Amino acid sequence: MNITINSEQQMAAFGMALGRLLRAGDIVGMTGDLGAGKTTLSKAIARGMGIEDHITSPTFTIVNEYEGTLPLYHFDVYRISDEEEMYDIGYEEYFFSKAACLVEWANLIPNLMPVESLWLELHLGTQHAEERIVKITCEAHWQERVDQLLRELNL
Ligand code: ADP
Ligand code: MG
Repeated sequence: MNITINSEQQMAAFGMALGRLLRAGDIVGMTGDLGAGKTTLSKAIARGMGIEDHITSPTFTIVNEYEGTLPLYHFDVYRISDEEEMYDIGYEEYFFSKAACLVEWANLIPNLMPVESLWLELHLGTQHAEERIVKITCEAHWQERVDQLLRELNL
């Protein structure tokens, strides 16, 4: 389903509410061009998980780790050259753990993203500078939480 976000504050509210709903083992894949808002959204999700550290995009490190209500692994796979490189960093230890994982540019590792992942595709809107369209795709087990999220935010 598609939701329309009309401001950076609304994106932050969406992220924080999602962060509060995350559970151990959850993986959230984010896609969207540079500037679409993946890192902005990741920061809000981290805040929703009670993480007060300064969150930076792990573009050069591929993954950053934080400790919140759950451990959080924040990936940005923009600079990996192929999926093989994810094995080199031992991605399975992160993905199949008791943490939550956020993956920016998850479309670049399509074969490694678990089918149970929540997918958030961010697109720039056409109406104004802060408009974003978020396409949410998920397996059935996410549906209840996604519905709760959208209800909570009146989206
Ligand atoms: P990405 O990680 O996808 O490259 P960033 O989150 O780093 O994107 O950058 C998004 C940019 O767009 C930021 O400069 C942010 O201030 C701006 N922005 C404007 N409106 C929004 C919005 N509704 N949601 C997210 N970011 C927004
Ligand atoms: Mg980013």
